[in-house]
Amino acid sequence: MRVSDFYALSEEHQAIRETVRALAEAKIAPFAAAVDEEARYPQEAHDALVAGGFHAPHVPEAYGGAGADALATVLVIEEVARACVSSSLIPAVNKLGSLPVQIGGSEELKQTYLGKLAAGEGGFSYCLSESEAGSDAANQKARAVRDGDHWVLNGTKRWITNAGESEYYTVLAMTDPEKRSKGISAFVVEKSDEGVSFGAPEKKLGIKGSPTREVYFDDVRIPEERIIGDEGKGFAIAMETLDHTRVTIAAQAVGVAQGALDYALGYVQERQQFGKPISDFQGLQFMIADMGMKVEAARQITYAAAGRSERGDKDLTFFGAAAKAFASDTAMQVTTDAVQLLGGYGFTRDYPVERMMRDAKITQIYEGTNQVQRIVMARQLLAGIQSTL
Ligand SMILES: Cc1cc2nc3c(=O)[nH]c(=O)nc-3n(C[C@H](O)[C@H](O)[C@H](O)COP(=O)(O)OP(=O)(O)OC[C@H]3O[C@@H](n4cnc5c(N)ncnc54)[C@H](O)[C@@H]3O)c2cc1C
Repeated sequence: MRVSDFYALSEEHQAIRETVRALAEAKIAPFAAAVDEEARYPQEAHDALVAGGFHAPHVPEAYGGAGADALATVLVIEEVARACVSSSLIPAVNKLGSLPVQIGGSEELKQTYLGKLAAGEGGFSYCLSESEAGSDAANQKARAVRDGDHWVLNGTKRWITNAGESEYYTVLAMTDPEKRSKGISAFVVEKSDEGVSFGAPEKKLGIKGSPTREVYFDDVRIPEERIIGDEGKGFAIAMETLDHTRVTIAAQAVGVAQGALDYALGYVQERQQFGKPISDFQGLQFMIADMGMKVEAARQITYAAAGRSERGDKDLTFFGAAAKAFASDTAMQVTTDAVQLLGGYGFTRDYPVERMMRDAKITQIYEGTNQVQRIVMARQLLAGIQSTL
């Protein structure tokens, strides 16, 4: 091994980072404030990501995708989030929504839906949560009942990212309520299926450019081959998916933290008080040092988790939860400190750091709150799952 390869990104990974950073700075960052202010879908980012082949980079080449590995996908999401977290939900949710098909779907489902996603024909959302099934995700009330060679789906999903924008949906529903989590199955539903409709967009604290809606299923008849994997395997597939995609939430968190740090670094060297740049004050230098140290630690655990995701290591469950919890807690601290470094200006929407602080908050909540991540980590540790390193 060359010394330059030792514990460092490969040249290919470096190149992906540089390409996406340039794309994000040119085509995504200029619209981030307006997307937030107007709470509108980041269509400019969508178009730029599709044109660059970065809207769903994880889709394997066999299905027409870019075939990016887990680390490359993390780099794409991190760099987009550094400019605009709402926009980073496009590649992140496309992976979340479609990974169940990739993990458990039939070859026919993969060819059809991963192919359409890769071709930019429509996004993919993930419908697990319900009003009474949040942290207790197995408490599903949505029902799917077999009717000849079809399934009939009824129920309401809550908090669905990019609902209404996406063409395709992985939907979890009870097929055998007596078996609780082992009675849950997963299905692919299309936006155009009769009986699918959407609620009004939620009015949120952050990621305002990423629509979050309820999704209603009213006697939706879907062909039996749209089940993902075997009947009763849906919950296991949904949880395995989250092991991988929590790493992408960690990537969002690292990205937004880096974006806030970068902005603050520029500001403190420009802003003068007491006749000198405020970066001369040691009190602020210590804050800056802590911010940089935490962002780097969050990045390292995120990339380590991405390696485990790519290899499918047995400690991925721990690492996915640890990376997500650590990076999102870091993002909240660092973005809050960035607001502090800008003083009163940081508190206004004339500067981007308050948006970053509001956007960072969601990374502590979705794909399992950070309390849930700690439950997951403790279970893994108590079960004796050792780190692969
Ligand atoms: C903007 C946004 C986008 C989302 N996108 C999606 C999506 O695309 N698809 C999807 O399926 N879901 C999505 N979600 C749902 C998200 O994953 C849930 O909100 C989250 O899992 C928490 O569930 P809850 O909101 O019901 O909170 P609750 O489960 O009610 O939790 C409330 C509080 O109790 C704590 N708590 C709960 N149980 C325990 C416990 N056992 N021990 C300790 N503390 C506990 C939680 O940590 C939290 O602090 C999204 C949510 C939001 C806000």
